[in-house]
Formats: sequence, structure tokens, C-alpha cells
Amino acid sequence: MVIRKSVNELDKMRFAGLIVAETLSELRKMVEPGITTRQLDAFAEKKIRSVGAYPTFKGYRKFPSSICASVNDEVVHGIPSDRRLREGDIVKIDCGATLDGFVGDAAITVPVGKVTAAIENLLETTRASLFRAVEKMVPGNRLYDVSYAVQELVEERGFSIVRDFCGHGIGERMHEDPQVPNYGRPGTGPKLKEGWVLAIEPMVNIGTHEVQVLSDGWTVKTKDGKYSSHFEHTIAVTPDGPVVLTAMEDGSLML
Ligand code: MG
Ligand code: MG
Repeated sequence: MVIRKSVNELDKMRFAGLIVAETLSELRKMVEPGITTRQLDAFAEKKIRSVGAYPTFKGYRKFPSSICASVNDEVVHGIPSDRRLREGDIVKIDCGATLDGFVGDAAITVPVGKVTAAIENLLETTRASLFRAVEKMVPGNRLYDVSYAVQELVEERGFSIVRDFCGHGIGERMHEDPQVPNYGRPGTGPKLKEGWVLAIEPMVNIGTHEVQVLSDGWTVKTKDGKYSSHFEHTIAVTPDGPVVLTAMEDGSLML
């Protein structure tokens, strides 16, 4: 069952989302050759707690850290470590914050120094697919219209969509109904209603869509070792159209 949020609840979710946005925006600036993903994690935890929020990921099903940091062929759920980022890497940073009982969830992929044109294209395609999905989030559209918006653009550009993981409803819990796959048949699925809040998160691969989970029980990697990209926002369906709850204060999307 999809839990609809009141205007008052959406206001609360906006504050949780803003903390996530501000944290990601600062993390992005910190990314450079030589920094470790553990340093990024430590900063994020401090930043989130400094405003009285809680880093949602920490302890979630025993996840040890406040952010997920996934490098290159790691798709999602990477555990921050002493690995140093190197020129030409890409790092996916996924961040959640809980404030006043509500959760915000967003992710960005950040190039480390200069990356190849092929990787820039991968990132740009993933971002663009997220924007397309957001545009579909109006009352009366169907859920898989949103999913297909991602799939259509990504496949048009010759990349593949990860199928084993997907977006989700979000509210008082990080993962609520419905599941939001990044592929689907347009015109099908439940109708979107005012007050729905979805975390849309395309995971896009250069090569095969197939992934595997490493022995740490968390890190998801591409099966062929090729690079993967991930962007995510938490978005509300409202009578005035989609509202990105994890945008910056000026409305920008730190993408
Ligand atoms: Mg996330
Ligand atoms: Mg999510």
C-alpha cells in the first residue's frame, strides 16, 4: 500500500531532503584524487548530525556507514573504506537523512578529476533519464510511465539499466511501497496520486545490466567490470507538479 503524505508531512520531508542535498553538495566539492571514501563518510555523518538529523543508512540492516560510496564498476551500496580515489575514477555517493521522523534519500555520481568522454556520456545519460522520470511524476500518470522514461532514454543511448535494484516509495521509512523499477511498460501500473513520494534512482551500466553482490554482503558490482552510474532524488507528486524534495534551497539539483 502506498502511503500518501499530507502537505504538512511533505514540509517535513523537504527539510530532511534539504540536509541530504547540502551534504551531497559539499561532498561533491571534496572529491579529488587522494581522498578516501571513509573521509567522505566521516564528513557526511558530522554534517547530518550537526543539524539534529540522523544518517539514515547507519545501522540500516547493519550497514556500517552514513553514506554508500561505490567506485567505478561498483553500482551501489559500496561501504566507505580507506580506498583512495584516483584521477579518472567515478564515485557514486548515496546519502540519507532522517529528520523529524521523515527520510530524504538522494545520490550523485562524481568524476574524480578528468574522466573519459565515454564516462561523461554515461553520467549525462543517467542524469537526463532521472529528469525525464521526474517530469512524468504528475497525478494520473501511471507508475511505469515513470519507469519507462528512464529506460527509453538509457537504451536509446546504448547503455543498460540495472534490473536487480530499483527506486522506491519513501516517507517515515526509507523503503516504502511502491517499488519503482527503472524499466517498464508505459501506460501500465497504478496511477500516481497527490501525496505520493518516490525515490527515483536510475542505475546505468556501460556494458551488461547484470550485477553481483560481493562477499561483504553489500557492494553491488557490474558482472563485466565496466563502469556504472547512479543518480537519485526524492520527489513528491503534487497538484502543482513534481517537487524534488532533495533539491538545494535555490531549487538546483546538484547534478
Ligand atoms: Mg539512496
Ligand atoms: Mg533510494
